[in-house]
Amino acid sequence: MFQPFWETGIIRRALDRRLIHAKAVNIRDFTSDRHRTTDDRPYGGGPGMVIKPEPLADAIRSAKADHPGSRTILMTPQGRIFNQEVARRLSREEGLIFICGRYEGVDERISRRFVDDEISIGDYVLTGGELPAMVVMDAVIRLIPDVLGGADSAEKDSFSEGFLEHAHYTRPPVFEGDPVPEILLSGNHREIDRWRLEASLVKTVIRRPDLLESRALTAAELEILKRCHGHIEKIVRTQSASGADSPSGDESVG
Ligand code: SAM
Repeated sequence: MFQPFWETGIIRRALDRRLIHAKAVNIRDFTSDRHRTTDDRPYGGGPGMVIKPEPLADAIRSAKADHPGSRTILMTPQGRIFNQEVARRLSREEGLIFICGRYEGVDERISRRFVDDEISIGDYVLTGGELPAMVVMDAVIRLIPDVLGGADSAEKDSFSEGFLEHAHYTRPPVFEGDPVPEILLSGNHREIDRWRLEASLVKTVIRRPDLLESRALTAAELEILKRCHGHIEKIVRTQSASGADSPSGDESVG
């Protein structure tokens, strides 16, 4: 599963340029029985299989021996939810070892003895930890210096400044009757920056207001929000006065 990921796009370029190094370790190579067994039935009964601790422990030890400074991460839906902040922190690590579970998961003693972090990519359950590991790798690798082409392409992404990113447009200026916001064609970079900040803030307020609650706003950002708030209040007042809010109900707007 990892090969096509490593052979594509920005990740491939990063590997070719030796900005990163990546290797998949097959725990089957660390088994000692004839069938190369990596899983077993769970103690206490129940459905499914569990990844055995011995081959997994040896695989982790081998990866650690190659990269002693690495942080060991277990991919599990029970872990801490992955986000851009976690990606940023992981991008500063010397190395990362991802443990990808299968079946019911891995023996708990692996988690207790070898794991520094348990990470989930969201509240849903996949069949294996490989895709989650690739999600984390992708988000982390693009934050490593020089991996992205444009010097600041990652800095302005959604979440990097605590907001969602503004919309993007490219040529043509009018697509199927739908024009690009005029300001973006003006060449006035101060105004364009203002527009982008405003677009970014408004999008965040509408889609992810939770992001703004945990973020200290600058005076300029607060000013933009106040202005939007003023516009919204005015619209609500005007519409309420014209009776738009009470066609059938008897609730009043305070
Ligand atoms: N029985 C486990 C549970 O209920 O927590 C789920 C096991 S899942 C079917 C198999 C493996 O997929 C897990 O060990 C983990 O490595 C990976 N996995 C599944 N969903 C994941 C998620 N949301 N985030 C990270 N890893 C996940």
